[in-house]
Amino acid sequence: KPVVAVVGRPNVGKSTLVNRIIGRRAAVVQDVPGVTRDRVSYDARWNGRELVVVDTGGWAPDAQGMAAQIAEQAELAIAAADAVLLVVDATVGIQDVDEAVVRVLRRSNKPVVLAANKVDDQRTEAEAAAMWNLGLGEPFPVSALHGRGSGDLLDAVLAALPEAPTEVFDAPRGPRRVAIVGKPNVGKSSLLNKLAGQKRAVVDNASGTTVDPVDELVDIGGVTYQLIDTAGIRRRVKEASGHEYYASLRTQGAIERAEVCIVVIDASEPITEQDLRILSMVEEAGRALVVAFNKWDLTDEERRRYLDREIERDMVQFTWAGHVNMSALTGRHVDRVGTAIEGALAAWETRVSTGKLNSFLGRVVAAHPHPVRGGKQPRILFGTQAQAGPPTFVLFTSGTLDPQYVRFVERRLREDFDFQGTPVHLEVRARE
Ligand code: GDP
Repeated sequence: KPVVAVVGRPNVGKSTLVNRIIGRRAAVVQDVPGVTRDRVSYDARWNGRELVVVDTGGWAPDAQGMAAQIAEQAELAIAAADAVLLVVDATVGIQDVDEAVVRVLRRSNKPVVLAANKVDDQRTEAEAAAMWNLGLGEPFPVSALHGRGSGDLLDAVLAALPEAPTEVFDAPRGPRRVAIVGKPNVGKSSLLNKLAGQKRAVVDNASGTTVDPVDELVDIGGVTYQLIDTAGIRRRVKEASGHEYYASLRTQGAIERAEVCIVVIDASEPITEQDLRILSMVEEAGRALVVAFNKWDLTDEERRRYLDREIERDMVQFTWAGHVNMSALTGRHVDRVGTAIEGALAAWETRVSTGKLNSFLGRVVAAHPHPVRGGKQPRILFGTQAQAGPPTFVLFTSGTLDPQYVRFVERRLREDFDFQGTPVHLEVRARE
């Protein structure tokens, strides 16, 4: 989502204008605790386009001098923004502080839209025109209080933003795509047969060029899924014998096409490198993950204890995955595979609102501030979820965060929101 920073000196009506943009009636803007005292961000939507609006109001003046402070605040917000909305007060004209902000804007090379606020009636419109003198192009006369002109202003803001990327995940879609993967003989086709039962439909048979169905529609726990590359699972003997390279390519291809992967592991045998490689492939592809420990009927007490230790030692990286201890032979817990897939997909698609994310960040930062580095305090300015499937977050910061601290934030994110079954990506955009 593109980020729009709203800047300007105090009392020009930034917060009222932000309320207009986000479509909220409340005249008082609640500060999001913690992240920073002086920056608040919101989700907004205009003409079907989603954006994040960052309000930079609310700092307290101190000895440092108003102009310097405002310029610094504005600079931080501007650095993180895709476009800037500069708000000036048409009724009092251009002030020194406005000009200080304009200097910062010029240096940033970001697209700027100028709002001349408090134009409540025709009479003040002439005063708005005086704002041409700032050298930022056409001033948009608005009355944040009455809503006058805010539609035209938002059109201008959208026009200033970079092109919207195509939103893949909002498109209407068919059944969710599931891949069953794992090394040979762990029980993939046995699980497929158990899951699919008799209710099966061929998906990709229209061309008539292949004899085997590539994908099948199957009903798992009352939900229809598209099972990726069922032919590959069924023909495993031909594929796998002496052609491990091709088997691996096929696995990779199935993972790429799927939204959620079931990695089948033989619980009765020690976990192998190959099992771990396949798990890593799923993680790297950013797919939802359910680990099916199959052949549970062949495990005894001792083996299960040993398996626990193997998981602890070799699979720490995948503690986020869903788990099912099952047997395709006896049918034990096969039904839980469906529940696990659903849970993992729900987590994979989670969308956290910008407000919720920032109040979470506020709590984390307040309780555990980033350690001071070389006399400087790296700060998280705000965050937003850039994408779902898998959840991908962008943190805008001043200064560089320690990788350790980023991992800490990611852990807390997992604790606070239910991300069981999905990888989570955290990007940091730092401004030195
Ligand atoms: P794939 O290569 O991963 O598709 O594995 P298969 O489904 O062909 O299974 C390999 C072998 O393991 C076959 O002999 C299956 O009967 C057996 N098998 C599969 N699942 C189980 C299970 O849960 N318990 C036991 N005891 N054997 C199983």
